[in-house]
Amino acid sequence: MSDFVWCHGPNCHTHSTLDRVRGSKGSKVLRTRKITQRRNQYYNPANLYNYFCSMHCYNEFANKHAQQIIKIEPRTKPLETRIDDPVREKHTHNYSFGEHSYYTTTINKIDTDNNVG
Ligand SMILES: [Zn+2]
Repeated sequence: MSDFVWCHGPNCHTHSTLDRVRGSKGSKVLRTRKITQRRNQYYNPANLYNYFCSMHCYNEFANKHAQQIIKIEPRTKPLETRIDDPVREKHTHNYSFGEHSYYTTTINKIDTDNNVG
């Protein structure tokens, strides 16, 4: 037994896909998609795909409600993650046509629980 929610995308019912077509001949509609909630051991209520049928619908919701969403957790100053001094490393390979070098930089986080902000 599983229950469902309707997609929260504000325009879900306007996207022209055959799976949204409902109704009888002569009175067809595009209907908001239904999202089955499989409440098994893998169910994660924080997963946005439990409430949105697609990233497209999620983006439309987020764009429509951006001002309300940012009020949930206002960001008045930047967050910071402490890191060790970045380590730059040179890598060199020798080929028949010559030498090729490139650099990589490793960033090591120290302790994400001590983030400032
Ligand atoms: Zn949708």
